[in-house]
Order: sequence, then structure tokens, then C-alpha cells
Amino acid sequence: MEFTRRDFIRSSLLIGSSFLLSPVSGLSGQKRDVDWIPAYKKLEREGKLAERVKQAYAHFENCQLCPRKCGVDRKKGVKGFCRAPLNPVIFSYHPHFGEEMSLVGGKGSGTIFFSNCNLRCIFCQNWPISHEGKGKEIQDEDLADMMLHVQKMGCRNINLVTPTHVMPNILNATQIALKKGLHIPLVYNTSGYERLEILKILDGIVDIYLPDMKYMDVDKAKKYSAGASDYPEVTKKAIVEMHRQVGVLKLDNQGIALRGLMIRHLIMPNRVAGTEKFVKWVAESLPKSTYVNIMAQYRVEYKAYDYPEIARGITSQEFLEAMDWAEKFGLTNLDPQSVATRNVYFHRRSN
Ligand code: SF4
Repeated sequence: MEFTRRDFIRSSLLIGSSFLLSPVSGLSGQKRDVDWIPAYKKLEREGKLAERVKQAYAHFENCQLCPRKCGVDRKKGVKGFCRAPLNPVIFSYHPHFGEEMSLVGGKGSGTIFFSNCNLRCIFCQNWPISHEGKGKEIQDEDLADMMLHVQKMGCRNINLVTPTHVMPNILNATQIALKKGLHIPLVYNTSGYERLEILKILDGIVDIYLPDMKYMDVDKAKKYSAGASDYPEVTKKAIVEMHRQVGVLKLDNQGIALRGLMIRHLIMPNRVAGTEKFVKWVAESLPKSTYVNIMAQYRVEYKAYDYPEIARGITSQEFLEAMDWAEKFGLTNLDPQSVATRNVYFHRRSN
């Protein structure tokens, strides 16, 4: 049975905060089978990483880390739309086996779930973490230790879930962890609601960008993501910038992601996500070999029950039409699990 991201969150919730900072011993790291070093290590060798950390931290004084541009002084403890404090709040960290196969490998993706969120969608599957901020406040040094811990467990990357509002802490922790031996790529697992100016600070630090593209329609973004009507335009520009930085996805000889862009698009009921426009936009704006994961796992969560348009799961027909559009517009690097799911649905439809 597939262990999904949602299952992971649920099991973590059941385990509770004692799950945090719990050491796991007796597991060793893996040697990479390719001559490859992460981007942040190259930047450190060039003597540029410390300056980026400083540049990022300066944003806390007048926080405009995301398009909400609250302008609050988080160094003085003032909270903006995301309700995040100055220090990172972590819900859990753990090898995660529900992500894309090229991130998981044999020992999982080293996933660190940050609490709070700058987008706050009303159908969020992780709402206790994202909306209510459940988790534990830690120091950047602790975050560095978590990165090293999942690396030691054999994870092939550091998967930073909802990183936007804690980007300066992540950079600081990365530099600390690098000095202690961090050597696996950072995965920037974001809603996609990112400012270009802020992404430029990450240029040469992040190896794998994993953005969502949630909607193509201004009205849907406004309605379902707390008034973020600029989401489609902002996120399109952000994804193009991510591609400029890391290019199309590159895998090692075991099929594990090393560097590149991986876009996620969750199909929503009644074509709310604008899937046809999305695949058309990818085909016209990025190489057709861009990795795209068209996801079928939408479920009614949190406040989605109050919105009839999205108060049901998607149908097999909605999933199949999405995959057909992707094919029609010539996308050549669709997530293998999506393709396999399409084949199962297609088989069922034909029988
Ligand atoms: S990161 Fe948080 S405080 Fe900063 S601009 Fe975004 S929502 Fe506002």
C-alpha cells in the first residue's frame, strides 16, 4: 500500500511532538555513486555562502520574504500573515517514502516539515501544521543537526517542506551543517508563491526546486488561497526563474534526483486547478522535457467542505483528461507514478 505524504503527517500527528529531536542511531550514510557535489558546497568554496546568509537574514527586519510583503520586523517578534516567529518551527523530520520516486530512493527523502505557511489554502492537507502552526520552535543549529541526522539515516536529499518564510534560517543551518559534513542536495519544496528577488538569493544554493503550480486562474487563487490573486502570475515567473537556476531534472545512475526542476500540479474537481492551461503554459514556457507530476490525490480537507465546487474528490475522468492534455501539448517527462495511475484508470475504463 502506498504511504502518502498525508499518511505521514497523520502518523506524525499521532506520535506528537516527542517525535521531534529523537535520535536514531546505528544507521550510516551512503556514498554517492557519482562525482557530484551540492551547489551550496560550490558556493562556499567560492567564499559566497556567508554573504548570502547575511543577505537573507536582513530580510527579517522588514519581512518581504514572500509576495505577501508584510513588512513586519520579525527580529522584534512581530508576526505577519504566515504567523511565523523568527526561529524556525518544525513539526517533524523523518525519511519520507511518499514523495516522487526520484527523491525517495531506498531510504526515503529527508523531509523536514516547517510549521506555518504564507499561502494558507482552504483545502490544505497539512492544516494543523500550516494553519495552526503546530510544532516546536528550535534554533538554526538544531535545524542543521536535523539535516545531518536524516543524511546519516541514508536519505538522498534534504526535503524542505514549506520553506519560504524560514528561508534565512535554512541558509544559516545549511552553512552550519556543511561545516559538519552535509553533502546531499537541498530540495526546495514550495507552494511556488515566491518572489523573484528572494529566489535570486537561493541561486547556487538549492539544487532541486519542487514547486506547486496550484491554479492558473486569478479568481480561484483568490478564493481558495487567502486572497492571493497574484498567485498564477507570481508563480509562473518564479518557476521560470527556478528553471533558469537549475535546469531540467538530472538523475544519478540509480535514478535519484541530483539537480533540476520538478513541478507538481494537483488536479482539483471541476477543473478548478486549470490543468489544461497549466500544461499548455509549461509546454510553451519551458522545455517539454521538464519534469511534471500531475497529481490525482486531491481529497476534501479542512474548510473545503464549505465550498461545493471542491467538496469532492476528483473522478477518474478528470484525471484521464488531465493526462490527455499533457500528452496533447507534448510534455515528455511526466511522473512515472502518474503515468502508471493513468494506465490503471485507462485499463479499468476499457473493461
Ligand atoms: S514570510 Fe510571512 S511575514 Fe514575511 S512577508 Fe511572507 S507572510 Fe509576511
